[in-house]
Amino acid sequence: MNERYAKQTILPEIGPAGQARLGASSVLCVGAGGLGCASLPYLVGAGVGRVTIIDADVVDRTNLQRQVLFGEASLGQPKAAAAAARLTDLNPMVEIEALEQRFNAGNAEALIRGHDVIVDGSDNYATKYLLADACVKFDRPLVYGSVTGMEAMATVFHARRGPCLRCLFPQAPTGWVPNCAEAGVLGPLVGMTGSLQAAEAVKLLASPDGAMNTLIGRLWIMDIRDTRQQIIAVRKRPDCPVCSQAPSTIELLADDVEVREIGPREAHELPDCRLFDVREPDEYAAGHIPGAISLPLSTLQDGQARIPSGTRCLIYCESGARCRPAAVHFKAAGYREIFSLRGGRKAWQAAA
Ligand SMILES: [Zn+2]
Repeated sequence: MNERYAKQTILPEIGPAGQARLGASSVLCVGAGGLGCASLPYLVGAGVGRVTIIDADVVDRTNLQRQVLFGEASLGQPKAAAAAARLTDLNPMVEIEALEQRFNAGNAEALIRGHDVIVDGSDNYATKYLLADACVKFDRPLVYGSVTGMEAMATVFHARRGPCLRCLFPQAPTGWVPNCAEAGVLGPLVGMTGSLQAAEAVKLLASPDGAMNTLIGRLWIMDIRDTRQQIIAVRKRPDCPVCSQAPSTIELLADDVEVREIGPREAHELPDCRLFDVREPDEYAAGHIPGAISLPLSTLQDGQARIPSGTRCLIYCESGARCRPAAVHFKAAGYREIFSLRGGRKAWQAAA
């Protein structure tokens, strides 16, 4: 028996058979941020045979508060590669692959089919929904985790055995999972959530016959402000927009939000188009394009805004810089065509 795994192999729930299953298994971790940094060392330490890490980001100093695989020496390095280097030192027996790219609709199938269990370490809802839909389509258990501020959630989605993400939340409420770049987050809470994800992944892999109960059909919720924990039952919805469909018909939407920049003249000719002003209220009050609805970017990002439904919209700010971050929220609200006004409000005025 490998000495490295002695402390878990003696557990009756794992045993030599469970350890052998772990060694023959593979995990895909989408994201090497706070959740990935917490789950990956335990997965690699436990002796999962093969681990793939996909992340397109580089390490910056604000990450170090919670992304514990990195240090000062990692600043500016790709997260996937920096995490892989640290993890290889932790356990050189594990085959670790680092992919410095985004998880997207194009690479989803090969990545998901190529692994036994998928761990969601992403920090934005576009990726979370794409990943969750892809795991339904390609039939893999997804160990889900999310942390916003002082609150965390974790569960296991496996449509064959229980609900999927869209049974729980049919679509991403705007601002529901703000990016860590936009909202604060408590480091230790991220660590707890990622550790729990690692534990669920190890259980799924070491004991696939269900000898241990996983979080399939149960949602763990932690409010760390008063350390209040809940586990609530989540049921499969017969009318779920994704897992009630035949897997072959599930459509994966590209996660990259496409925003087309257009000039004022072209904008005037767009049919059935809602117009939104994403500047702050004082800027809107000081003057806006007639008919524009005020939805400040700050309220979209903190989840305060309710976006009226529609399929096509034109958004504008002062110069255009705020349109792209705002567009993510319109896409999540169901808009299929999103345009931004080239040159912002100034260009509109100049053209009028
Ligand atoms: Zn579902």
